Amino acid sequence: MGLADIIKKGAFVDILRGMSVTGTYFVVDKMTVEYPKEKLQVYPRFRGVQALLTDPATGDTKCVACMLCATICPSGCIDIVGEQTADGRSRPASFKLDLSRCVFCGFCEEVCPEAAIVMTRHYELATFDKDDFYLDKEKLIANQVYVHKEVFAQPTEDTAPAPMEAGTANERGRS
Ligand code: SF4
Ligand code: SF4
Repeated sequence: MGLADIIKKGAFVDILRGMSVTGTYFVVDKMTVEYPKEKLQVYPRFRGVQALLTDPATGDTKCVACMLCATICPSGCIDIVGEQTADGRSRPASFKLDLSRCVFCGFCEEVCPEAAIVMTRHYELATFDKDDFYLDKEKLIANQVYVHKEVFAQPTEDTAPAPMEAGTANERGRS
């Protein structure tokens, strides 16, 4: 051990240097989020648990049991049985989604022609009971409480897209 090292040890240089780093972090903004007391805002396109939306006009789900979501689902975790109502509507008699197999890809939401199934931003899905991962129609409808308000935003006259001119779609299709 050289003289310089002896002086360094005697003056507690390393300890003081360490204390200065610790002291610095007492005064700077903390980076840690103390979950669950504090929560991060998820990104707008975050995909959490699904919800089935209801139609205020009928009070029933907007789902018409077209099976598109069940068909496109890469995990095969959606199971739907359709039925006809007395007034001629098509709807799911049962709608089951096994969340334990879902990969949250969002294909079900994208493919739905009725915007009936949507991905919410709810991510707190931990449970001790795996039955909680089996979502039936009632649970999926109840999940509407997690739907973010943008989903319900209806286009107004100011924000609605202008109607397409004749031939525009075909021209786009060719390009
Ligand atoms: S998010 Fe993807 S994996 Fe999950 S139910 Fe929808 S289509 Fe299936
Ligand atoms: S794609 Fe939409 S309307 Fe069709 S079965 Fe799925 S949720 Fe229902």
